Amino acid sequence: MRFGPSGFCDKFLEKYSKSEEVPSWIIEHNLDAYEYAFNKGIHIGDEKAIKLGQIFKEYGVELSVHAPYFINFANPDDIMADKSKGYIIDSLTKMKLMGAKRLVFHPGSLTKNTREKAFELVMRRLKELSALLDEYDFEGMYICPETMGKHGQIGTVEEVAQMCAIDEKFIPTLDFGHINSYTLGGLKTYDDYVNVFKTLEKYIGERYKKVHIHFSKIMYGSKGELKHLTFEEDTEYGPDFEILAKVLKDLDIDATIICESRGSQTIDSVKMKNIFEETIDLK
Ligand SMILES: [Zn+2]
Repeated sequence: MRFGPSGFCDKFLEKYSKSEEVPSWIIEHNLDAYEYAFNKGIHIGDEKAIKLGQIFKEYGVELSVHAPYFINFANPDDIMADKSKGYIIDSLTKMKLMGAKRLVFHPGSLTKNTREKAFELVMRRLKELSALLDEYDFEGMYICPETMGKHGQIGTVEEVAQMCAIDEKFIPTLDFGHINSYTLGGLKTYDDYVNVFKTLEKYIGERYKKVHIHFSKIMYGSKGELKHLTFEEDTEYGPDFEILAKVLKDLDIDATIICESRGSQTIDSVKMKNIFEETIDLK
Protein backbone atom coordinates (compact mmCIF):
# COMPACT_ATOMS: atom_id res chain seq x y z
CA MET A 1 0.00 0.00 0.00
CA ARG A 2 1.30 3.44 -0.88
CA PHE A 3 0.07 6.75 0.54
CA GLY A 4 0.46 10.37 -0.51
CA PRO A 5 -1.22 13.69 -1.30
CA SER A 6 -2.46 15.25 -4.50
CA GLY A 7 -0.99 18.65 -5.37
CA PHE A 8 0.53 21.24 -3.02
CA CYS A 9 -1.01 21.30 0.48
CA ASP A 10 -1.12 24.44 2.66
CA LYS A 11 1.78 23.37 4.88
CA PHE A 12 3.99 22.68 1.84
CA LEU A 13 3.25 26.15 0.49
CA GLU A 14 4.32 27.77 3.77
CA LYS A 15 7.90 26.67 3.00
CA TYR A 16 8.09 25.64 -0.65
CA SER A 17 6.69 26.36 -4.09
CA LYS A 18 8.23 23.94 -6.61
CA SER A 19 7.38 20.43 -7.73
CA GLU A 20 11.10 19.56 -7.46
CA GLU A 21 10.77 20.09 -3.69
CA VAL A 22 7.87 17.65 -3.36
CA PRO A 23 9.73 14.29 -3.15
CA SER A 24 11.80 15.28 -0.09
CA TRP A 25 8.61 16.68 1.51
CA ILE A 26 6.86 13.35 0.90
CA ILE A 27 9.74 11.35 2.40
CA GLU A 28 9.93 13.71 5.38
CA HIS A 29 6.36 12.68 6.16
CA ASN A 30 7.13 8.98 5.74
CA LEU A 31 4.85 8.76 2.69
CA ASP A 32 5.65 7.27 -0.74
CA ALA A 33 3.22 8.53 -3.40
CA TYR A 34 2.21 11.80 -5.04
CA GLU A 35 -0.33 12.83 -7.65
CA TYR A 36 0.70 15.57 -10.05
CA ALA A 37 -2.08 17.71 -11.53
CA PHE A 38 -2.55 18.36 -15.24
CA ASN A 39 -6.01 19.57 -14.13
CA LYS A 40 -5.96 22.86 -16.00
CA GLY A 41 -3.77 21.67 -18.87
CA ILE A 42 -0.50 19.92 -19.68
CA HIS A 43 1.88 22.79 -19.05
CA ILE A 44 5.12 21.05 -18.08
CA GLY A 45 8.05 21.26 -20.52
CA ASP A 46 9.96 18.13 -21.58
CA GLU A 47 13.15 19.11 -19.80
CA LYS A 48 11.35 19.78 -16.52
CA ALA A 49 9.36 16.55 -16.88
CA ILE A 50 12.57 14.50 -17.24
CA LYS A 51 14.24 16.27 -14.31
CA LEU A 52 11.19 15.86 -12.10
CA GLY A 53 11.04 12.16 -12.98
CA GLN A 54 14.67 11.73 -11.93
CA ILE A 55 14.09 13.38 -8.54
CA PHE A 56 10.98 11.32 -7.79
CA LYS A 57 12.86 8.16 -8.75
CA GLU A 58 15.83 9.11 -6.56
CA TYR A 59 13.55 9.48 -3.53
CA GLY A 60 11.51 6.38 -4.39
CA VAL A 61 8.22 8.29 -4.52
CA GLU A 62 5.59 6.85 -6.86
CA LEU A 63 4.20 9.47 -9.21
CA SER A 64 0.72 9.42 -10.74
CA VAL A 65 -0.97 12.14 -12.78
CA HIS A 66 -4.48 13.59 -12.88
CA ALA A 67 -5.56 14.35 -16.46
CA PRO A 68 -7.13 17.70 -17.49
CA TYR A 69 -10.64 18.39 -16.14
CA PHE A 70 -11.89 19.40 -19.61
CA ILE A 71 -11.75 15.81 -20.90
CA ASN A 72 -15.29 14.66 -21.71
CA PHE A 73 -15.82 11.35 -23.51
CA ALA A 74 -19.59 11.87 -23.26
CA ASN A 75 -19.46 14.99 -25.44
CA PRO A 76 -22.20 14.69 -28.09
CA ASP A 77 -19.73 16.14 -30.66
CA ASP A 78 -17.32 13.55 -32.10
CA ILE A 79 -14.68 16.16 -32.91
CA MET A 80 -14.65 17.37 -29.31
CA ALA A 81 -14.47 13.77 -28.08
CA ASP A 82 -11.48 13.21 -30.37
CA LYS A 83 -9.79 16.14 -28.62
CA SER A 84 -10.27 14.32 -25.32
CA LYS A 85 -8.44 11.31 -26.78
CA GLY A 86 -5.64 13.70 -27.74
CA TYR A 87 -5.38 15.02 -24.16
CA ILE A 88 -4.98 11.45 -22.89
CA ILE A 89 -2.22 10.75 -25.43
CA ASP A 90 -0.48 14.07 -24.65
CA SER A 91 -0.68 13.33 -20.90
CA LEU A 92 0.78 9.84 -21.34
CA THR A 93 3.55 11.17 -23.58
CA LYS A 94 4.57 13.66 -20.88
CA MET A 95 4.17 11.08 -18.11
CA LYS A 96 6.54 8.74 -19.87
CA LEU A 97 9.24 11.41 -19.47
CA MET A 98 8.24 11.84 -15.81
CA GLY A 99 8.30 8.10 -15.07
CA ALA A 100 4.62 8.23 -13.99
CA LYS A 101 2.59 5.08 -14.63
CA ARG A 102 -1.03 5.93 -13.80
CA LEU A 103 -3.23 8.56 -15.43
CA VAL A 104 -6.47 9.35 -13.59
CA PHE A 105 -9.27 10.91 -15.66
CA HIS A 106 -12.92 11.94 -15.33
CA PRO A 107 -14.89 9.96 -17.94
CA GLY A 108 -17.43 12.65 -18.84
CA SER A 109 -20.52 14.73 -18.10
CA LEU A 110 -24.09 14.11 -19.23
CA THR A 111 -24.61 17.65 -20.60
CA LYS A 112 -27.96 17.34 -22.46
CA ASN A 113 -27.92 13.58 -22.91
CA THR A 114 -29.65 10.92 -20.86
CA ARG A 115 -27.38 8.87 -18.62
CA GLU A 116 -27.77 5.82 -20.92
CA LYS A 117 -26.81 7.78 -24.05
CA ALA A 118 -23.87 9.53 -22.34
CA PHE A 119 -22.53 6.24 -21.00
CA GLU A 120 -22.88 4.62 -24.42
CA LEU A 121 -20.80 7.46 -25.92
CA VAL A 122 -18.12 7.08 -23.22
CA MET A 123 -17.85 3.34 -23.83
CA ARG A 124 -17.60 3.78 -27.60
CA ARG A 125 -14.89 6.47 -27.30
CA LEU A 126 -12.90 4.49 -24.73
CA LYS A 127 -12.89 1.44 -27.02
CA GLU A 128 -11.59 3.66 -29.83
CA LEU A 129 -9.03 5.18 -27.46
CA SER A 130 -7.88 1.73 -26.38
CA ALA A 131 -7.22 0.72 -30.00
CA LEU A 132 -5.48 4.03 -30.68
CA LEU A 133 -3.18 3.63 -27.65
CA ASP A 134 -2.05 0.24 -28.97
CA GLU A 135 -0.25 2.13 -31.73
CA TYR A 136 1.92 3.91 -29.15
CA ASP A 137 4.60 2.61 -26.83
CA PHE A 138 2.96 3.16 -23.46
CA GLU A 139 3.99 -0.22 -22.06
CA GLY A 140 3.34 -0.58 -18.33
CA MET A 141 1.24 2.59 -18.17
CA TYR A 142 -2.41 2.61 -17.10
CA ILE A 143 -5.34 4.91 -17.65
CA CYS A 144 -7.64 5.04 -14.67
CA PRO A 145 -11.27 6.21 -15.04
CA GLU A 146 -12.48 7.73 -11.78
CA THR A 147 -15.73 7.18 -9.89
CA MET A 148 -17.46 10.57 -9.76
CA GLY A 149 -19.46 12.38 -7.09
CA LYS A 150 -22.09 14.40 -8.97
CA HIS A 151 -25.27 13.01 -10.51
CA GLY A 152 -24.54 14.88 -13.75
CA GLN A 153 -21.29 12.96 -14.26
CA ILE A 154 -20.58 9.51 -15.67
CA GLY A 155 -18.65 7.34 -13.22
CA THR A 156 -20.63 5.13 -10.86
CA VAL A 157 -18.72 2.09 -9.59
CA GLU A 158 -20.58 -0.11 -12.07
CA GLU A 159 -19.86 2.23 -15.00
CA VAL A 160 -16.15 2.46 -14.14
CA ALA A 161 -16.01 -1.34 -13.79
CA GLN A 162 -17.45 -1.69 -17.32
CA MET A 163 -14.91 0.79 -18.70
CA CYS A 164 -12.09 -1.21 -17.14
CA ALA A 165 -13.44 -4.41 -18.70
CA ILE A 166 -12.58 -2.96 -22.15
CA ASP A 167 -8.88 -3.72 -21.79
CA GLU A 168 -6.18 -4.34 -19.19
CA LYS A 169 -4.70 -0.88 -19.78
CA PHE A 170 -7.67 0.48 -17.78
CA ILE A 171 -7.59 0.21 -14.00
CA PRO A 172 -10.24 1.74 -11.71
CA THR A 173 -9.76 4.88 -9.67
CA LEU A 174 -12.09 4.43 -6.72
CA ASP A 175 -12.75 7.83 -5.20
CA PHE A 176 -14.51 6.85 -1.98
CA GLY A 177 -15.52 10.43 -1.15
CA HIS A 178 -17.19 10.60 -4.56
CA ILE A 179 -18.88 7.19 -4.19
CA ASN A 180 -20.25 8.28 -0.80
CA SER A 181 -21.45 11.61 -2.22
CA TYR A 182 -23.05 10.12 -5.32
CA THR A 183 -24.98 7.64 -3.16
CA LEU A 184 -25.81 10.39 -0.60
CA GLY A 185 -23.97 8.64 2.22
CA GLY A 186 -24.15 5.07 0.91
CA LEU A 187 -20.81 4.04 2.42
CA LYS A 188 -21.48 3.20 6.05
CA THR A 189 -20.92 -0.45 6.86
CA TYR A 190 -18.12 -2.91 6.17
CA ASP A 191 -20.36 -4.60 3.58
CA ASP A 192 -20.96 -1.29 1.76
CA TYR A 193 -17.21 -1.12 1.05
CA VAL A 194 -16.92 -4.82 0.21
CA ASN A 195 -19.75 -4.39 -2.33
CA VAL A 196 -17.71 -1.75 -4.19
CA PHE A 197 -14.96 -4.33 -4.77
CA LYS A 198 -17.50 -7.08 -5.54
CA THR A 199 -18.95 -4.89 -8.31
CA LEU A 200 -15.47 -4.49 -9.78
CA GLU A 201 -14.82 -8.22 -9.52
CA LYS A 202 -18.01 -8.99 -11.45
CA TYR A 203 -16.61 -7.16 -14.50
CA ILE A 204 -12.82 -7.46 -14.26
CA GLY A 205 -12.23 -10.56 -12.12
CA GLU A 206 -9.01 -10.77 -10.11
CA ARG A 207 -7.83 -7.47 -11.57
CA TYR A 208 -10.04 -5.75 -8.96
CA LYS A 209 -7.19 -6.18 -6.47
CA LYS A 210 -5.09 -3.64 -8.31
CA VAL A 211 -6.73 -0.23 -7.93
CA HIS A 212 -5.95 3.44 -7.64
CA ILE A 213 -7.73 5.10 -4.71
CA HIS A 214 -8.68 8.69 -3.94
CA PHE A 215 -9.83 9.35 -0.41
CA SER A 216 -11.19 12.51 1.15
CA LYS A 217 -14.17 13.62 3.19
CA ILE A 218 -16.72 15.29 0.92
CA MET A 219 -19.82 17.36 1.70
CA TYR A 220 -22.80 16.41 -0.45
CA GLY A 221 -26.33 17.64 -1.22
CA SER A 222 -29.30 16.20 -3.14
CA LYS A 223 -27.33 16.03 -6.43
CA GLY A 224 -24.18 14.55 -4.91
CA GLU A 225 -20.77 16.14 -4.29
CA LEU A 226 -20.59 19.75 -3.04
CA LYS A 227 -17.08 20.26 -1.65
CA HIS A 228 -13.98 18.56 -0.30
CA LEU A 229 -13.38 18.88 3.45
CA THR A 230 -10.40 18.17 5.72
CA PHE A 231 -10.48 15.18 8.09
CA GLU A 232 -10.69 17.67 10.94
CA GLU A 233 -13.59 19.66 9.46
CA ASP A 234 -15.80 16.69 8.70
CA THR A 235 -18.14 15.60 11.47
CA GLU A 236 -21.08 14.32 9.46
CA TYR A 237 -20.40 13.33 5.84
CA GLY A 238 -17.61 10.77 5.80
CA PRO A 239 -16.65 8.29 4.53
CA ASP A 240 -14.63 6.62 7.33
CA PHE A 241 -11.16 5.46 6.41
CA GLU A 242 -11.10 3.02 9.38
CA ILE A 243 -13.64 0.73 7.70
CA LEU A 244 -11.97 0.92 4.28
CA ALA A 245 -8.62 0.03 5.91
CA LYS A 246 -10.12 -3.20 7.29
CA VAL A 247 -11.64 -4.11 3.92
CA LEU A 248 -8.36 -3.44 2.08
CA LYS A 249 -6.51 -5.69 4.50
CA ASP A 250 -9.12 -8.49 4.44
CA LEU A 251 -9.40 -8.52 0.63
CA ASP A 252 -5.62 -8.26 0.26
CA ILE A 253 -5.87 -5.23 -2.03
CA ASP A 254 -2.74 -3.52 -3.33
CA ALA A 255 -3.47 0.16 -3.90
CA THR A 256 -2.02 3.61 -4.11
CA ILE A 257 -4.11 5.86 -1.88
CA ILE A 258 -4.09 9.54 -2.79
CA CYS A 259 -5.58 12.08 -0.40
CA GLU A 260 -7.48 15.04 -1.84
CA SER A 261 -8.47 16.80 1.41
CA ARG A 262 -8.86 20.55 0.99
CA GLY A 263 -5.47 21.99 2.01
CA SER A 264 -4.57 19.27 4.54
CA GLN A 265 -3.90 16.44 2.10
CA THR A 266 -0.41 15.58 3.41
CA ILE A 267 -1.41 15.50 7.10
CA ASP A 268 -4.50 13.46 6.24
CA SER A 269 -2.37 11.03 4.18
CA VAL A 270 -0.24 10.49 7.28
CA LYS A 271 -3.41 9.89 9.33
CA MET A 272 -4.59 7.27 6.83
CA LYS A 273 -1.23 5.53 6.76
CA ASN A 274 -1.24 5.33 10.56
CA ILE A 275 -4.79 3.96 10.63
CA PHE A 276 -3.86 1.35 8.00
CA GLU A 277 -0.75 0.25 9.91
CA GLU A 278 -2.76 -0.07 13.14
CA THR A 279 -5.30 -2.16 11.23
CA ILE A 280 -2.61 -4.54 9.96
CA ASP A 281 -1.16 -4.89 13.47
CA LEU A 282 -4.56 -5.86 14.89
CA LYS A 283 -4.50 -9.01 12.70
ZN1 LIG B 1 -10.54 13.51 -10.06
